[in-house]
Amino acid sequence: METTPLSDGVHYLHGAVNCGLVETDSGLLAVDTGLDRGAANRLVRAAEELGRPLVAILNTHAHADHHGGNAQLVRRLGIPVYAPAVEEVVIREPRYEPVYLFGGAEPVGALVNKFLQAEPSPVDHVVRPGETVTIDGRKLEIVDLRGHSLAQVGVRADGVVFAADGFFGLEPLAKHGVPFLVDAGRMRESLLRLGGMKAEWFVPGHGPALDDPEATLAANVAALDRAFAWLEERLEQGPAGTEELLAEFGARFGLLLSNPGSYVLNRAALLGFLGTLEREGRAAVLLEGGRWLWARAE
Ligand SMILES: [Zn+2]
Repeated sequence: METTPLSDGVHYLHGAVNCGLVETDSGLLAVDTGLDRGAANRLVRAAEELGRPLVAILNTHAHADHHGGNAQLVRRLGIPVYAPAVEEVVIREPRYEPVYLFGGAEPVGALVNKFLQAEPSPVDHVVRPGETVTIDGRKLEIVDLRGHSLAQVGVRADGVVFAADGFFGLEPLAKHGVPFLVDAGRMRESLLRLGGMKAEWFVPGHGPALDDPEATLAANVAALDRAFAWLEERLEQGPAGTEELLAEFGARFGLLLSNPGSYVLNRAALLGFLGTLEREGRAAVLLEGGRWLWARAE
């Protein structure tokens, strides 16, 4: 059996990206669909093993490794797709992912690949944080987990919280040094929100499901706080441009900056910290001599 049962009628498929399989009145709801066709086909096989058809998809956010299997499932099964407001735009128009990572311009070829741009998928229903949706008779709570992406959500099915990239398992966290995020302040709030939730199981997007996530959530918060502290200390020493800060930040936290894809992802994460510091009055933007500089707050 490829899937792991978590609680009554709730399973997950552990892989490079975890997907949930939640029993509904007439079949199974997939929570995220993995990177590509292969991931989608694996979900279909897992559903066959459970003896129930896939009847719908619910995406947590619009990163290619979480919705890249949608297109294949929609083609094969014609099932409806539920996705969070804001994120759903990128699921329908995935070219926006390399576009925003390239600063809004038409991206260079090295950024156009399946890891950064999924196949387009229709979205039939938009979900919003705080609401309870009923899909094929199954009630699901949509949890606000903004920060890793602009409008990421988690999905609670009874005692199981599918948190996707709202937090990272210890191994992927150690591997990345600093987790990918676009708003470090909001991601920190989302981590604290997860810490306050009572559930039997918490399933991250990457890493095993946890029945007691306390230490892992604390490690995620600590990773953000280390990065915040380093940046504030660095800005005390004088203003610096984004690229210069990125090279120093990368050296400090062991970030991979040697290919265009990981470079722009890490730059977005760095900006996710700097933007938070600026909004909170802890850093300032200076435009000097034709350069955008980050400086300590006055
Ligand atoms: Zn993600």
